Amino acid sequence: MVETAADQKNPLLEPWTGPFEAPPFGRIRPEHFRPAFDLALKEARAENAAIAADPEPPNFRNTIEALERAGRSLDRVASVFFNLASAQSNDEIEAIEREIAPVLSRHRSDFFANEALFARIAALKANESKLGLDPQQARVLERYHLNFTRNGAGLSAEAKARLADIGERLATLGAAFGQNVLADEKSWLLVLDHGDLDGLPASFVASAARAAADRGYEGQHLVTLARSSVEPFLQFSKRRDLREKAFRAWSARGENGGATDNRAIAAETVRLRAERARLLGAPSFAHFRLADTMAKTPEAALSLLRSVWAPARDRAAEEEAALQDIAASDGGNFKLAPWDWRYYSEIRRKQAYDFDESEIKPYLQLDRLIEAAFYVASRLFRLSFTERFDLELYDKDARAWTVMGPGGAPVALFIGDYFARPSKRSGAWMSDFRGQQKLDGEELPIIVNVMNFSKGGDGEPSFLSFDDARTLFHEFGHGLHGMLSDVIYPTISGTNVARDFVEFPSQLYEHWLEQPEILRRFAPHCKTGEPMPEALLQKLLNARRFNQGFATVEYTASALVDLELHLDPAPGDIDITAFERKELERIGMPDAITMRHRTPHFQHVFSGDSYSAAYYSYLWSEILDADGFEAFVEAGDIFDPAAARRLKDFVYAGGDSRDYEEAYRGFRGRDPLPEPLLRKRGLEAAPAGDA
Ligand SMILES: [Zn+2]
Repeated sequence: MVETAADQKNPLLEPWTGPFEAPPFGRIRPEHFRPAFDLALKEARAENAAIAADPEPPNFRNTIEALERAGRSLDRVASVFFNLASAQSNDEIEAIEREIAPVLSRHRSDFFANEALFARIAALKANESKLGLDPQQARVLERYHLNFTRNGAGLSAEAKARLADIGERLATLGAAFGQNVLADEKSWLLVLDHGDLDGLPASFVASAARAAADRGYEGQHLVTLARSSVEPFLQFSKRRDLREKAFRAWSARGENGGATDNRAIAAETVRLRAERARLLGAPSFAHFRLADTMAKTPEAALSLLRSVWAPARDRAAEEEAALQDIAASDGGNFKLAPWDWRYYSEIRRKQAYDFDESEIKPYLQLDRLIEAAFYVASRLFRLSFTERFDLELYDKDARAWTVMGPGGAPVALFIGDYFARPSKRSGAWMSDFRGQQKLDGEELPIIVNVMNFSKGGDGEPSFLSFDDARTLFHEFGHGLHGMLSDVIYPTISGTNVARDFVEFPSQLYEHWLEQPEILRRFAPHCKTGEPMPEALLQKLLNARRFNQGFATVEYTASALVDLELHLDPAPGDIDITAFERKELERIGMPDAITMRHRTPHFQHVFSGDSYSAAYYSYLWSEILDADGFEAFVEAGDIFDPAAARRLKDFVYAGGDSRDYEEAYRGFRGRDPLPEPLLRKRGLEAAPAGDA
């Protein structure tokens, strides 16, 4: 039989006509992706070629707007595919992912190598003042020009060829770096005999037994170097000798000599990045990387890190003294070492802040906390949420809501996919199936939040830990950044913003979860309906400041080393270990704390480029969220309408339509200050609370 209508039957190639024009998940099969990708890629190439070959002289409409319209089919297929690859994968999807990744990366590099296209963009940029562009259009033009030049457009053929070689080599190095860390984590095991379990909680013992059984050590217990195994071990094990052993192995990942040693890889990566930056006209890789962020310069990022470093180190010294006292009263006659910190600070936490997880759990029901997140959005942004049951989603546990604005007009479709399952990768994230834009009429966003919470038993509610609840609010904050987006052009829509700005709307949203007013209302006891007792609530909220000297020091040291490594304009053959040691000495790193990520296993920075010279971004965003929430505190109303209005206009709705500093100033009326962050982390001069 001849199959002639195969394409017509591919739902990825049909118009989607259901509510919100959502993807028809029920009909999409893995075998639909490859043909849809192939067709969409062909279409995108033809669209780009037509724009490049347009005989008309370039203008904003026939070049930039045309580019904004191009590649729609590809975006549509790719968004469904990559969302499923993360949240609902299987062997077939994984195979397609391996196959399509290099094809897409090739498509992208061909795009930026298109000199005819770049000539049109460069001509527009050169004549910008005569084009009469509005601010959004100017921003979009700037974005295109920047993306092309940052990818080498306009350089000599020789320079371009070198950039391509560097890019290829860096990709290889990045992949090897990650694999080496994984190999070191896999090859190390600590087998515990029954006598070695002292202090370990039952839940840890159970998972250590499972890990042992999985690897053929039936009846024994295993500690591995995965953070989820080694960290609780360091926290609870009474065996100082075993803690030292585990800690040393954990800290030496990527630095063990032999085939999995990452030091030469890191050194070569730093060298090649610097060369790439030089070819592109930047003084160093850090300068190149940060030119396109809110911080803009390495100096600005360094100055932030340094402003936090001294108070963090002071607080860490106080913490260390307290831990040393506990160790002494425990009969320990030694100076506190890095493998002791987590253990004694767990004892200290119990003394000062302890609440039993089982005490808090009955108050934190998933459904009530989803309501809480919606309630905050209704108070701040006058949104309302109506669950709908007429959509077939990609999993039976996923839920969908129509989100409506003040006048009842639809704003977005929100999908919540909350429970862990084997087909989902770990972690929590926000993504979209379609971003907001209104280039050709209003296109409403379809936003998804994906979590890995454990599902309650049959007919039972699902309960969260407080960290889970914070994650729920965090991702919903990203979600609102996508849903409230109100810009014309897709390139600058929603969460398409700089690395050091993107966590601001999400981290800011977490603050509302921590308001007693919200917890009293949305965290009632599941059986009695009574609100959480005040003492428990306060303990929960105070716990946030616990051990923050340590946490800030281990983080900031990593961020400083990352930046310093990438500031050298022409690094030679760096000895990574020596560089790290020298830098830590220079900043006065406490002996009892190590970097959160030592360079030979610093995957944020070396497994690809996502946080290279940009690990500071987390703290940068935290300055913004701490200072940003103070706008509401100062107004005396956590839902202050005027502050909420500015927050929406300049942050949640603004996408990348403005310079980030300007956006922040628009919301806050001034530049961000670091003091609220110090207060939030309990690092201000006068110690907070009783511990
Ligand atoms: Zn986030």
